Amino acid sequence: MNNTDLSTRSRAALPGGVSHELRYRTPHPVFIDHAKGAEKWDVEGRRYIDFKMGSASQMLGHCHPAIVEAIQKQAERSVFSADCHAAEATWAEWVNHLYPSAERTRFTASGTEATMLALRLGRAWSGKDHVLRIDGHFHGWHDHALKGAMPGSDRASSLGIPDAVNDLIHVCSPDPQAMEAILQDARIGTVIVEASGANYGCVPLATENLRALHDVARAAGVVLIFDEIITGFRWSPGGRQARDGIVPDLTTLAKTVTGGLPGGAVCGRAEIMDLMNNETQREGLAPAVSHKGTFNGSPLVAAAACAAMPLLATGEAQAQADAMATRMRDGMNKTLHDLGVVGLAYGESSIFHLYFGRTSLDGLSAAQIRSLPKPQVKAYRDGMLEHGVDLMAYTSGLTSAAHTPDLIDEALDGFCATLTAMIH
Ligand code: PLP
Repeated sequence: MNNTDLSTRSRAALPGGVSHELRYRTPHPVFIDHAKGAEKWDVEGRRYIDFKMGSASQMLGHCHPAIVEAIQKQAERSVFSADCHAAEATWAEWVNHLYPSAERTRFTASGTEATMLALRLGRAWSGKDHVLRIDGHFHGWHDHALKGAMPGSDRASSLGIPDAVNDLIHVCSPDPQAMEAILQDARIGTVIVEASGANYGCVPLATENLRALHDVARAAGVVLIFDEIITGFRWSPGGRQARDGIVPDLTTLAKTVTGGLPGGAVCGRAEIMDLMNNETQREGLAPAVSHKGTFNGSPLVAAAACAAMPLLATGEAQAQADAMATRMRDGMNKTLHDLGVVGLAYGESSIFHLYFGRTSLDGLSAAQIRSLPKPQVKAYRDGMLEHGVDLMAYTSGLTSAAHTPDLIDEALDGFCATLTAMIH
């Protein structure tokens, strides 16, 4: 079956034909058949250089042999029995070892569940229901994460969320003074920050800025959560907190922490995490903070994660991915310059973003950085896809340890051809 026919079938069976709203595409999505390393092939046999990499989850590359082998071996022993097992402890020990904030780790079934749990822990520990989050930062799709997720909007980016929930969420710019002013509100007990800056660094958050936000939160005595679901195991084996030496109370992880399988984690200070210990009681409840979830810490995911951890702990995978993203950004900027297109490729670590219309982000608001004209974004993404290059979302992409200089140079040829077509 080809992409068009599969799209017709999917549209009849799934709302919009998709399982995730960002996979929606006109005239139809590309249906992927298989993937290996930094490449993937659609159902029509077309090959793509991948800069989506499983929405940033495949840091080691698609179908890494060590991960495939671990999954195969575990699948033969037990796919899932909903019991405690040895790999859970090994996996948690790795996280506790690598993440400066981690004294205990609890596994979840997704990143969204991780931020949901971290906010519950923050509220339980502080005894305060109100939460402060940063404009445009993404923390998943649960009810407490969507007010302020769209930059410049103080409304939740979804219908169906009660006003009573939205009223508990305060939104501020990534400005320490603004945060300090809002934290005067004694009802706020928890702050959550996307460690990369909004949308995996599309709106960058400089280290001194993150440190200042941390210091303000510390001075206010609130529970500080770093959402390292993108930056974890990517910006360094211990995420941004290890790289920059800025330590929160709680950290959320997903995508890479699982070796690229579905799941997530919350880690942090023992005294807060132990609110989930069955021996801890508050108001007659044991445990004080409830956390369930059939597939949490599943053996299949734990097997993949335990295979990935030693490979991610050395920093070599990150160094390779970072070098390839630098090559991509440099090449994109050279192409923009050579073609006379005003724009900027930027980003940190193994991430690259593209901004059209300026060669510097200075003076732009977060909302301006996030809101390039949609036709331009669509023309760019479609053009790249046409030239066999798939991006993550908007105008951004990520590299992995499997990207090579040859693949980057080939993708840069696609970038040049795409821009050339856009300006003519
Ligand atoms: N937080 C951040 C920073 C993310 O990038 C994501 C997903 O892209 C999430 C939370 C939600 O994770 P999941 O998609 O696993 O629910």
